[in-house]
Amino acid sequence: MMGRKAGSGAVAPDPVSFWLETCGDEMKVRPAAVGSIRCDVAIVGGGFTGLWTAYYLLKNVPGLRVAIFESRYCGVGASGRTAAGAGARVAGQAQLEAECSPGLRSALWVEQLKSIDELGKVAESEAFDIEWERVGSLAVALGRGQREALGAAERALTGSERARGVRLMPADELRSRISTAHAEGAIWDPAAASVHPGKLVRGLARATERRGAKIYENSEVQSVGVTRTGAVARLDAAEVHARRVVLAAEGYLPSIQPVRRHIAPIASSVVLTESLGPKVWEEIGWEGRELLHSFRLSVNYLRRTSDGRILVGGRGAPYRFGSRVSQSCNDSSVVYRELRGLAARWFPALRSAGFTHQWSGVLGAGRGLRPGVHVLSRGRILAVGGYVGTGVAPSNMLGRLCANVVLDRKAPLVESPLVIQGWRKWEPEPLRWLGIRYVQVRLNQLDRAAEAHGKAPSGRTLAERLWRG
Ligand SMILES: Cc1cc2nc3c(=O)[nH]c(=O)nc-3n(C[C@H](O)[C@H](O)[C@H](O)COP(=O)(O)OP(=O)(O)OC[C@H]3O[C@@H](n4cnc5c(N)ncnc54)[C@H](O)[C@@H]3O)c2cc1C
Repeated sequence: MMGRKAGSGAVAPDPVSFWLETCGDEMKVRPAAVGSIRCDVAIVGGGFTGLWTAYYLLKNVPGLRVAIFESRYCGVGASGRTAAGAGARVAGQAQLEAECSPGLRSALWVEQLKSIDELGKVAESEAFDIEWERVGSLAVALGRGQREALGAAERALTGSERARGVRLMPADELRSRISTAHAEGAIWDPAAASVHPGKLVRGLARATERRGAKIYENSEVQSVGVTRTGAVARLDAAEVHARRVVLAAEGYLPSIQPVRRHIAPIASSVVLTESLGPKVWEEIGWEGRELLHSFRLSVNYLRRTSDGRILVGGRGAPYRFGSRVSQSCNDSSVVYRELRGLAARWFPALRSAGFTHQWSGVLGAGRGLRPGVHVLSRGRILAVGGYVGTGVAPSNMLGRLCANVVLDRKAPLVESPLVIQGWRKWEPEPLRWLGIRYVQVRLNQLDRAAEAHGKAPSGRTLAERLWRG
């Protein structure tokens, strides 16, 4: 599915991001699955979701036979390519909360906030470093055209968010933290953290193995199904029989039968500057290294790395007909050029900066545009994910939740709308392509109008309504 394969024991041929390049892991590829394999739980996908699910299964039930099947190597997907901002909110938060009772809503927030802390705590207890740092996040209105979105975001803050310090930050206070051109104010959330995602995903794979999981790499699952007593996953050179199969392949899920229509892969891309000199940092400020993002409808986020670089990301190449994902995750030189332009819009000092890295990844968007644990085939197959681009911390919460569902444990959120019986499919092609492309093109146009003429999107256009789900 995704490019050149290295034999087992060989070093992964292409560190697909700065994060995997600098994660300090020797990146040896683990042996592939061959023959007939039996286990209690088979997990498809070696990213954050699959690894967290395995981790909590084994933490709860040491000795459980858990096997992970990864098509290339752990971390090669979105988890090793992300911008690594760990925030509490999930995609579709407002709708999700609307479906919860008040008690469940507080339990949800407890679990969401816990997921940020859990990344740092587990890494520490398992003795690997992920550069976890509580930096907070700033959702910045960048230009007049985003002022209304900022106001709407402020009005939408819930009582519990205000109680834990989420608030409007006026423009003058914001400018004392970062000198962003065009900054009009921001929403400050003190809970968010930054991590080194390469160190997290590779460290988690090793920690999960130490707890007894068997990880097979270069092991692409082609299809899954049920048997009389459990479930089966079929690979080219292996057949896996398990009591339960967990699908954690996120944006790559359309490669697996029979779930080809449950997730749409959406590309996201980033560019990364060289390490910037002291003069540039003096001009930019940003000493608190907060996670930054704007209210662009087609998404825009920034990170300051520990070695003084700036990562700028946003939506990637257009959705491809039939949910196809290329080896390079649909990367596009046009997108990279636009992102370098956006970097200079935030910080004019970046106009003359060198960019050393660029890469793309795919996000998974389910039809409901929010993540969940989907219970299929009377619980023999579970599918976890659909983060629509905010999965760094939520994958921990969903991994914990999925482990509890697999183990039939009574635990927080097992009876919440995050656990869904069945899974709504996307429309067949060409309708899916037409719908997603329409939304992508329109959101881009609305962003351009906001940036060029300060014209705020109304929030009522068809594309905006479709995008909210
Ligand atoms: C550029 C970019 C920036 C992002 N920035 C942020 C951010 O700042 N904050 C945030 O919260 N989220 C961010 N995200 C999203 C976040 O990275 C993802 O939500 C999260 O990593 C999803 O983890 P996952 O394990 O579910 O999926 P993945 O990491 O994609 O893992 C899926 C794995 O399944 C494997 N696989 C696929 N098909 C098969 C198969 N048939 N058989 C076996 N294995 C298979 C893949 O190789 C892959 O390793 C970003 C994503 C991208 C791409």
